Amino acid sequence: MAIADIDPKTQSEKANQRDAAPSEAPPEKTKDRSGREGQSADKWGDYEIIDHTYDVVVVGAGGSGLRATMGAAEAGLKTANISKVFPTRSHTVAAQGGIAASLGNNSPDHWSWHMYDTVKGSDWLGDQDAIEYLVREAPQAVYELEHAGVPFSRNKDGTIYQRPFGGHMQNMGEGPPVQRTCAAADRTGHAMLHALYQQSLKYDADFFIEYFALDLIMNGDKCVGVVAMCLDDGRVHRFRAHAVVLATGGYGRCYFTATSAHTCTGDGGGMVLRAGLPLQDMEFVQFHPTGIYGAGVLITEGARGEGGYLTNSEGERFMERYAPSAKDLASRDVVSRSMALEMREGRGVGADGDHIYLHLDHIDPAILAERLPGITESGKIFAGVDLTKQPLPVTPTVHYNMGGIPCNFHGEVMAGDPNDPEKIVPGLFAVGEAACVSVHGANRLGSNSLIDLVVFGRATGHRLKELIQPGSSHAELPSDSADFALTRLDHFRHANGSSPTAAIRADMQKAMTRHAAVFRDSKLLSEGVDMLKTINKRMEDIHVTDRSLIWNSDLIETLELDNLMAQANVTMASAENRKESRGAHAHEDFPERDDANWMKHTIAWFDGWGGKGGDVRIAYRPVHEYTLTDDVEYIKPKKRVY
Ligand SMILES: Cc1cc2nc3c(=O)[nH]c(=O)nc-3n(C[C@H](O)[C@H](O)[C@H](O)COP(=O)(O)OP(=O)(O)OC[C@H]3O[C@@H](n4cnc5c(N)ncnc54)[C@H](O)[C@@H]3O)c2cc1C
Repeated sequence: MAIADIDPKTQSEKANQRDAAPSEAPPEKTKDRSGREGQSADKWGDYEIIDHTYDVVVVGAGGSGLRATMGAAEAGLKTANISKVFPTRSHTVAAQGGIAASLGNNSPDHWSWHMYDTVKGSDWLGDQDAIEYLVREAPQAVYELEHAGVPFSRNKDGTIYQRPFGGHMQNMGEGPPVQRTCAAADRTGHAMLHALYQQSLKYDADFFIEYFALDLIMNGDKCVGVVAMCLDDGRVHRFRAHAVVLATGGYGRCYFTATSAHTCTGDGGGMVLRAGLPLQDMEFVQFHPTGIYGAGVLITEGARGEGGYLTNSEGERFMERYAPSAKDLASRDVVSRSMALEMREGRGVGADGDHIYLHLDHIDPAILAERLPGITESGKIFAGVDLTKQPLPVTPTVHYNMGGIPCNFHGEVMAGDPNDPEKIVPGLFAVGEAACVSVHGANRLGSNSLIDLVVFGRATGHRLKELIQPGSSHAELPSDSADFALTRLDHFRHANGSSPTAAIRADMQKAMTRHAAVFRDSKLLSEGVDMLKTINKRMEDIHVTDRSLIWNSDLIETLELDNLMAQANVTMASAENRKESRGAHAHEDFPERDDANWMKHTIAWFDGWGGKGGDVRIAYRPVHEYTLTDDVEYIKPKKRVY
């Protein structure tokens, strides 16, 4: 493994010199694709460009990015991984409850039951061929993790311990709940990410750590590389590659409170939109029922899997009314809506009636210490509550993005051509939460994301192996290959308006939180669309104080905000457009699912760059109403009750 072969001392010396004495020559003005003014890259003395050539470049070192990196490197492809944070600090590290696979260790199970639950969980918006692929590959992917060194919790007979999770049932949805979620206590993501990072070091991949990917390099319809900036010296790195894999995670930070890390700013989605490509199903945002009230920190669904339950201000276990069969283990959208309704009807707890209690105080403290040590600690730190004795105040909190970069189950990104819906973008791949395969459809089941990361990370590795001959020659990059990324970088670096980044971000987050919440209606959504357009315009009035190139967090947060802003606009417009209720999209003026008109994926492009307002163009892609093999029949839509 080589961490970019550059002498760190010379890097910072040079960077300091550059910063002290910017190029004298008056720079020539250019425009980027969005019409923003800047200076063309080859006219810049200020930015030094370092070139690299790889077979494959993976952007992102969370679970999905590391699995794809491993797969590509194992196939003999010269592979680079670029990550803005140290790999083991990616958000995957925070995953608690576990990873779903029908191993059948703690209760009977079958992949077709897992498939049924995932299709039903998706409210029939998931593509059933991709779902079949996911659930059939899942057991193998978990054993692979076990062999890679993930220290799963164990049953007495030595098999992997599996716990119940919301929406996972036995007997094709009939019940009772199945124990399908493989767990390493309540630190499953932590265990997985460390094991995957250690494994990927074994293969000959180059890691570019604390490098921020700015933009894709497109040549016509084809992706031919990516431009990134080294955060500690500001040098620009241009990667030429046969394939770029976006594994940049979700964009939960569009909202004011989210369980996701502050780094979850959807940078991959931003790059895709800027390349003139669409995102898919962005209206579907998952609210996790149990974020700690006030702090937003997650309490895993595994807590309810281990016997935890919710109560309202009357001490009632209200989930029994909303989901008589699955109760507290109904799927997340259902539980979140039930909680919101209880609060709305005056049965929330606390002085303002704005949260709900989660009880774990009836569970044997020894079990809590063994199976849920992390959340016991979180309860103490973030709510000042001793879980073994008191209930924990919780509220539905933004947690996961079902929508993302449209791709097939090989990880190949789809161009969103309405006349050719399966058409791909050569050279571009997406995996993990950044992607929309779509296996989660309108609502993801808990523990189905970690399995998505490894199954599709691995599938992408296989596809890259099929498509790319290791070391094969590259076409010349287009002469303007760095212009797009650098023009934008330079534009924001010198942005001299009157609105600080944090102020615009706060306005965007408040608008999203208020107008695209658990429940939506036509008025809220159309106001939300207008509001976000106005907030987007303020991007042209943004003020960046720090002009340096050394660890300029002001600049990086601004670039991240630019990514978030586009996706916030696309999310709100897609939600406003969908006139039905499905999965996580609960539209009060259209409370029923409408398969006749809305059984289709939303595809949305953003045309609002450069202060042009937040215009979003919408088209559709058909849902795959077929399975991958004849081993299982297409699961026909029916009413979704738990
Ligand atoms: C608190 C919490 C608990 C969860 N628990 C579970 C669970 O128990 N089970 C489950 O199935 N799911 C769970 N999820 C969901 C799941 O963990 C995530 O969906 C998943 O980990 C995302 O992985 P990823 O590989 O897509 O991206 P991430 O792990 O988010 O990693 C993104 C990577 O992209 C890099 N990156 C981003 N932008 C750039 C850029 N511009 N330049 C360079 N690098 C960039 C980052 O450095 C990082 O390495 C949980 C989520 C949260 C927030």
